[in-house]
Amino acid sequence: SENEKVKNILAALKSYPDFPKQGILFWDIFSVLNTPSAARDLVSLLESHIHEKCPQVDVFVGLESRGFLFGLPLSTSFFKPFIPIRKKGKLPGKTKEVSFKLEYGEDVFEIQAESIKPGQCVVILDDLLATGGSLKAANELVSSMGGTVGLNLVCIELKDLQGRNNITSPVQSVLQL
Ligand code: AMP
Repeated sequence: SENEKVKNILAALKSYPDFPKQGILFWDIFSVLNTPSAARDLVSLLESHIHEKCPQVDVFVGLESRGFLFGLPLSTSFFKPFIPIRKKGKLPGKTKEVSFKLEYGEDVFEIQAESIKPGQCVVILDDLLATGGSLKAANELVSSMGGTVGLNLVCIELKDLQGRNNITSPVQSVLQL
């Protein structure tokens, strides 16, 4: 059942206080991926959320870098393209970019031009939703290409930060912590 899968994932998940800096509790998704039954349950729950919330998906977009980990199994399972969003300067060819605010300073995301066609329904993937700044920037890129974000799907949502309030398209998480 969904409940047993969630329990199995939680049992494998490790967190690290004060990483990468003082005051941050870091949730290490790789601790789930190194436990095969938990990794399988996680991918299975991500799949069910898509079947339930966005079965009409045309394209999967993964955010660098841990969003890539979930983009590939889902795109092969649904037989839809996988498209990366990366930090500026890493994608070849013509690109579109958007800058967004971090705690200190700003960062720039890029996507390859014409990788999303107008009218396509997009599922955006990442490992974790904190403030929502990353997903918000990704939403802007997808919208600027004429795509519609059908679902923002993450493994872990940090509830107290209320990041989903910064995102206007639907948001779904496997674990709420
Ligand atoms: P945000 O843009 O604030 O929602 O941050 C989300 C991005 O930062 C995701 O790509 C996460 O991988 C990473 N991230 C932010 N906070 C954490 C955390 N406490 N533990 C692990 N990853 C985090």
